[in-house]
Amino acid sequence: MTLRLIILGRQGAGKGTQSIRISSRYGIPHISTGDMLRAAVVEGNELGIRAKAIMDAGDLVPDDLMMSIVTERLSADDAQGGFLLDGFPRTAAQATWLDTTLAPGGIDMALTIEVPDEVVIERMLARKRPDDTEDAIRRRLDLYEEQTKPLLSHYAERVATIDGHAAEDTVEGRVAEVIDAYLA
Ligand code: AMP
Repeated sequence: MTLRLIILGRQGAGKGTQSIRISSRYGIPHISTGDMLRAAVVEGNELGIRAKAIMDAGDLVPDDLMMSIVTERLSADDAQGGFLLDGFPRTAAQATWLDTTLAPGGIDMALTIEVPDEVVIERMLARKRPDDTEDAIRRRLDLYEEQTKPLLSHYAERVATIDGHAAEDTVEGRVAEVIDAYLA
């Protein structure tokens, strides 16, 4: 049985941490588009050069570019038994495209990790990523509300909402509970 998951949630919700845990717990690759883009920036390749200024501003990399990155990654051997997509889809166009790409079934489950505003802000200020300027953070949170949050209704029938305001182990347990229920 394949396990094709996406994980949504604002920056600072703990998506990255939980994704790593889910990935090792269920033996599926953690595919983070943000990590892939940051690696391209470090490498200084064409993609990285195109993406850097956009990421620094907290804006979204164009859909067509994201789709081609994800197409390539999902075609790799390790993704054939399932995967956890983190950071994609982020727009309605990306979500529709993913449905088509994974047709007829689409994804199995969308996980969303919810945390209160003040916790998000506290966590964001605590971490230090080169693209984490205050303006970029604000821009990303705005874009999440505008473009990514509406995807929750796109996936209404297969979304699991997880309360992320707890210790990492507790949150992991909550995530595992919904995935195990799906697999049972
Ligand atoms: P993340 O690590 O997921 O927060 O992504 C960091 C940055 O990479 C975002 O602020 C965007 O600029 C870019 N990015 C990552 N994934 C996507 C995506 N699916 N669509 C557009 N831009 C993305």
